[in-house]
Amino acid sequence: MLDLTYTAPAPKVIAGAKHDWELVIGLEVHAQVASKAKLFSGASTKFGAEPNSNVAFVDAAMPGMLPVINEYCIEQAVRTGLGLKADINLYSAFDRKNYFYPDLPQGYQISQLYHPIVGEGEIIVDMAPGVARRVRVERIHLEQDAGKSIHDMDPNMSFVDLNRTGVALMEIVSRPDIRGADEAAAYVVKLRQILRYLGTCDGNMQNGNLRADVNVSVCRPGQYEKYQETQDFSHLGTRCELKNMNSMRFIQLAIDFEARRQIAILEDGGSIIQETRLYDPDKNETRSMRSKEEAHDYRYFPCPDLLPLEIEQEWVDAIKASLPELPDEKKARFVTDFGLSEYDASVLTAEAESAAYFEDVAKGNDGKLAANWVINELFGRLKKDDKGISDCPVSPAQLGGIIALITKGDISGKIAKDLFEIVYTEGGTPAEIVEARGMKQVTDTGAIETAVDQIIAANPDQVDKARQNPKLAGWFVGQVMKATGGKANPAAVNAIVADKLGL
Ligand code: ADP
Ligand code: MG
Repeated sequence: MLDLTYTAPAPKVIAGAKHDWELVIGLEVHAQVASKAKLFSGASTKFGAEPNSNVAFVDAAMPGMLPVINEYCIEQAVRTGLGLKADINLYSAFDRKNYFYPDLPQGYQISQLYHPIVGEGEIIVDMAPGVARRVRVERIHLEQDAGKSIHDMDPNMSFVDLNRTGVALMEIVSRPDIRGADEAAAYVVKLRQILRYLGTCDGNMQNGNLRADVNVSVCRPGQYEKYQETQDFSHLGTRCELKNMNSMRFIQLAIDFEARRQIAILEDGGSIIQETRLYDPDKNETRSMRSKEEAHDYRYFPCPDLLPLEIEQEWVDAIKASLPELPDEKKARFVTDFGLSEYDASVLTAEAESAAYFEDVAKGNDGKLAANWVINELFGRLKKDDKGISDCPVSPAQLGGIIALITKGDISGKIAKDLFEIVYTEGGTPAEIVEARGMKQVTDTGAIETAVDQIIAANPDQVDKARQNPKLAGWFVGQVMKATGGKANPAAVNAIVADKLGL
């Protein structure tokens, strides 16, 4: 089994400051629940629909309309919790978070403040082969998304699109266990991977289906350890929250800027004001949005329109039994079963679809050889065409067929690459193509001998040189390969060349 001991890398010390400082980061990730309908209505969640076409009366907050919980969204949240090895709360409840905004017609968001559906879990964040960190998840709660205000369509008017209003979100809150900008990005990568494996969120960050609020503070060495011992936040620095980050790169740049900003203030004798800030990618800086003092008082209270949510342990168990194999387990199995390096195993398991593809290719073939072909040839080729595994023109059976021909000795590695290109662009059955186009490797020693004899006869100088320095025999091997169009069996050529030269 793969050893997932959490070999924590040393906390990042920020260079260029007078003193040593360490980063402390906690993430609140909003993940849109993969569901056809909204959390409390039957309206569609389809992205890119005509504005205001997917709005039920309850989404538009028409008087007297009542929310009805979408059981599938609950199931998705439970599945997510189980995937993060978290406690599932059989009792949870919805609260109203009250605020006014034009894209929130209800005047409140239905969320779960006091009794979230999912409790403590964890995410193993992979930093490098053999180096992983365990980040605790504090909770996951379900809530409604708001609509969208559009300010850039008309010089005098703003518009509101309520299609997103009421779409189910999972807010996944981490403990402040993340210790570097790279770790924060790796955390989002891993969380996204798990959600996609589970099928509970598509992880599309461009569409805003996965976005993170990033809480950043800095502290002097030793303080974080005191926090870990006591779980007392007063050992940590004051944090600022960077809102709505939806790119791994910007997450890192924003944290980096924010840490330096805070350190400069602290080293100047100032103090950090707890506030919400926005990252501006054009200027690569964060700017204040609102401070804690101006923060809303949401007047949370239990939503009187919804009964507390009570679910059965048997239902949770049934969902648990239906969970797919998750990335950590799959990666460990690939290392053990196929003898792959941890690095190759993580590349192959990055997406469930590519992992399944690889497993199909590896059926009946050598695992390592299959991994090399999938990672180097196939992924490389797909990348060149900007394609993903889902629109890959080569089926696992076709690639498996090419590899089987190499293993049998029917084709050389070099010819296999040509064959791959043919299959990739033209399709077809590898064995038939090899047969039809005469690509079969020449193992017939007679034919190879003839070729070697001809080359020896034509190059007496090279023969003398090679007899003095046997390393130069490689030149003859190269010539034979050239003469046979790369089809000669390299092992046979080597042996015959050595024999004929009397080496
Ligand atoms: P709030 O309810 O005000 O959003 P929470 O206690 O829920 O505050 O924390 C929000 C997020 O901030 C969590 O992900 C938590 O881990 C993180 N966090 C809390 N304190 C700190 C800190 N000192 N530095 C960095 N992150 C922090
Ligand atoms: Mg919060």
